[in-house]
Amino acid sequence: MSQNKRELASTFSPADIESPLYEKWIAAGYFTADNTSDKEPYTIVIPPPNVTGSLHIGHALDHTLQDVLIRMKRMKGFETLWLPGMDHAGIATQNVVEKQLAAQGKSRHDLGREEFVKKVWEWKAESGGAILGQMRRLGESVDWSREAFTMDANGIKAVPTIFKKLYDADLIYRAERIINWCTRCLTALSDIEVEHSDVEGEFVSVRYGDGDQQITVATTRPETMLGDGAVAVHPDDPRYKHMVGTQVLLPLANRMIPIIADELVDPDFGTGAVKVTGAHDPNDFEMATRHGIDMPIIMNEHGVMANSGTQFDGMDRFDARKAVVAELKAQGRVVAEKRPYLHSVGHCSRCDTTVEPRLSMQWFVRVAPLAKAAGDAVREGRVKIEPKELEPRYFDWVDNMHDWCISRQLWWGHQIPVWYGPNGEVLVLGPDEKAPAGYVQDPDVLDTWFSSALWPFSTLGWPADTDDLKKFYPTSVLVTGYD
Ligand SMILES: [Zn+2]
Repeated sequence: MSQNKRELASTFSPADIESPLYEKWIAAGYFTADNTSDKEPYTIVIPPPNVTGSLHIGHALDHTLQDVLIRMKRMKGFETLWLPGMDHAGIATQNVVEKQLAAQGKSRHDLGREEFVKKVWEWKAESGGAILGQMRRLGESVDWSREAFTMDANGIKAVPTIFKKLYDADLIYRAERIINWCTRCLTALSDIEVEHSDVEGEFVSVRYGDGDQQITVATTRPETMLGDGAVAVHPDDPRYKHMVGTQVLLPLANRMIPIIADELVDPDFGTGAVKVTGAHDPNDFEMATRHGIDMPIIMNEHGVMANSGTQFDGMDRFDARKAVVAELKAQGRVVAEKRPYLHSVGHCSRCDTTVEPRLSMQWFVRVAPLAKAAGDAVREGRVKIEPKELEPRYFDWVDNMHDWCISRQLWWGHQIPVWYGPNGEVLVLGPDEKAPAGYVQDPDVLDTWFSSALWPFSTLGWPADTDDLKKFYPTSVLVTGYD
């Protein structure tokens, strides 16, 4: 019998086989794309997972589908590029590092911006590799030589380039708008960073004014009445028609506010009269803007009552809610109360704090022309959605988009490439431009998605006219989950 005979293992042990085999594939360069090849290109860029996370079962499915496509095309003779990488995940990453600091009794402000950002990079170097390890374990046939990060050298050039381009085309603007605000993270949040859940709140009906000139409004947030700018009714509501155009006394604040008519008021909801608090409610903001109504801001960034000119200043918003109701009761102005009143309230997806709609100065992308172009690409068949039944869902999204708030009051991320001059000048700079002396850069960073939106071409070297870009852009397919 031969001395070389080996006993077949009684059980299959994937770990013994898979890792060495994978390393062999990588070393042989089987997955490295060649931008000089004559073969037809086939490209997928991985939707970049957050650097903070680890892959879940959904990623495993999603990545497997991409791997199947790439391997099939590779075997069919295409020049395939499957490009891996990660997203810097602004708020998620900042929160992880802030939590570590908090465990040492420190905040990011103790470190200062520069030191804090350095800490985040250190954290990324140490802990950011979990996902990449998982991708290796899945045997993904990605081109590791092109691994990208949304804040790498390409990202750092692409972001200000596109920002300036959009700004010059009047597609980026700065404005005071109402946004989702986390009073703990102290930043604006995107809609998908807000999680809605039903809470047992209250619904309080309050009488404004006195005698003949009185009107009752109902609210789930009595404390915000201190910032009311008007009371609105439906123009055809016979109960209130005679009052439109007159003024009514706002209790506690002791100000006179106008009664206005607006088609969007539902006469069947509550008393049919609603308070208009433009600085603290998104719908009210729209209405107040339409009618040119005052929008006093009566809460600071921590959710503490401020500048209302009442005894409630200095109180936390939830304490103020109780105190305002108690005072209104003492004045005999509470007409009805429902408690508990089940209604949907937004919470910060990172820390679960109740989100505060907040009027503040932010940067926005004017999405209408961009969303239309994205919709037309599908309508005209240049981009195909598979399966076709999900097209309406896509159109729902691109055809009903509101302007995108892109500024975040964070330190981790791409700092907004705008500098302010001593005399109010606003200067938007490209990646290789320098601001004159005395100019100060906007302290905010961009929403994480601002850079991941550039991913399909920033990873290929854009804005430089690279061989990768020529060969592999536009990409062939985007495999994505159901959102
Ligand atoms: Zn938060």
